Amino acid sequence: MDHFRLIDGELHAEDVPLSRIAAEVGTPVYVYSRATLERHARVFREGLAPIVEQGGPEPLIAFAVKSNPNLAVLRVLAREGYGADVVSGGELVRALAAGMPAERIVFSGVGKTRAELQLGLDRRIGQFNIESSEEGRELAALADGQGLTAQATLRINPDVDAKTHAKISTGKAENKFGIPLIRARETFAELAALGGLHLRGVAVHIGSQLLDLEPLETAFAKVGQLVADLRADGHTITHVDLGGGLGVPYRAGENPPSPADYGAMVARVTRDWGVHLAFEPGRVIAGNAGVLLTRVVRVKRGGNGPPFVIVDAAMNDLARPALYGAWHDFDAVRPSGERMTANVVGPICETGDTFATDRDCDALQSGDLAVFRTAGAYGATMASSYNSRGFVAETMVDGARYAVVADRIAADVIMDAERVPDFLQD
Ligand SMILES: *Cc1c(COP(=O)(O)O)cnc(C)c1O
Repeated sequence: MDHFRLIDGELHAEDVPLSRIAAEVGTPVYVYSRATLERHARVFREGLAPIVEQGGPEPLIAFAVKSNPNLAVLRVLAREGYGADVVSGGELVRALAAGMPAERIVFSGVGKTRAELQLGLDRRIGQFNIESSEEGRELAALADGQGLTAQATLRINPDVDAKTHAKISTGKAENKFGIPLIRARETFAELAALGGLHLRGVAVHIGSQLLDLEPLETAFAKVGQLVADLRADGHTITHVDLGGGLGVPYRAGENPPSPADYGAMVARVTRDWGVHLAFEPGRVIAGNAGVLLTRVVRVKRGGNGPPFVIVDAAMNDLARPALYGAWHDFDAVRPSGERMTANVVGPICETGDTFATDRDCDALQSGDLAVFRTAGAYGATMASSYNSRGFVAETMVDGARYAVVADRIAADVIMDAERVPDFLQD
């Protein structure tokens, strides 16, 4: 459920007409709904209630910052009691700047540099999710040398097919993430013996946009077996991080499991684990809380296919269609009731700059406003300045008011960071 709906024939974000934002901020522009973010944050937390009801401690919910790192978005979630799952030093700094307490920050990622590990230590983050014995040894030595103890889990790779797009699947043996299950016990034993590291559990994250609970349950069952094996080996296991991955509906007919279904499954599978659980949801919180608002530049007759609706947003603003062939619903801000079949494209000089092919959509003309829905996750954060288009602006609506939460960065400002060296002068 979201808060983007028609009021008097015009699409609004909460109580703000999208035409107002387009007129005042320009297009393309992302529009986030605070109420939707809050609603999703609460629904996800309520979905986990069975874990607490069966006697488990309150879980840590660490929002996957990479899905939407905007400071205002992070602040909304911090106020909901969320922590952060970060995958770079830059994200770590953002999460802290947004008010997320360090102890609720989890640091994931296969390629944390020494400087990033040090940053995590300096800021006393709550947990490092270690993805290799090499990383674990480096972190242990760094912490030990400074008289610190890093709290950590070992991320395992359960070799489970998440049945999602190959580029966002992370839990197959051939993926770069985590430690293969068959090496988990020896790696855990090796790292648990090191000073500077308190290895207190395991972590898993098998992929994103999962539309079925079955791969998650399979992975979690493997984690449960590993926890039992590690305890049998004499380790004390107090924390398990179950990652993110819950999918969202991008189009009619997609029925992802609800947070309640997910929470019930997790509660059942983890009933006897006796650990603190952590979760790292991203898309399910932010996806439907944002749209990309765009204006039709012109409608061009097709060759032997449907007309091209050329919009002022492009693959540099919303990369998912070009990157993953992803679907985003495309709707007029003021639908006339007429329909058309269109190829919806951006202005970039690549055929990949195509948002939709042969799409049945609202009839649109040059100058009309339209939105790509479900653009709140993996949207603005993947923007680039390709074709010297500048960085897209972001706004957040709160009831009848809104604010610009990220300025548009114009192409000439980006150019100001470039230099023609002396050896090319005159
Ligand atoms: C990307 C990622 C997430 C979030 O995934 P969603 O599908 O957006 O919930 C969580 N944890 C890790 C380690 C990730 O890399």
